[in-house]
Amino acid sequence: MDHKDIDTSRRNFLASSVRLAAFSGLGYFGVKEVIKKQKLGDECLKLDICISCIEFDSGCSLPKAEGTRSREENSKHKHG
Ligand code: SF4
Repeated sequence: MDHKDIDTSRRNFLASSVRLAAFSGLGYFGVKEVIKKQKLGDECLKLDICISCIEFDSGCSLPKAEGTRSREENSKHKHG
């Protein structure tokens, strides 16, 4: 085994380690979000109003968000 082979295998090892760490991190946050949603159920613990919440545009379906959407729709119909 020469220096080139050692460098290549070290680079491959580091790349694999970085990939593993990245996927582990994604998996951790994914599982954490699922657990959080299961715990919260239909409750929203955010103090924000829905319109200023980042979840609203991504289709949050909690009752508070649905209520905000229907109020927005009613407001649009009333004001043209
Ligand atoms: S959009 Fe959803 S998560 Fe955001 S404040 Fe409204 S109900 Fe809560």
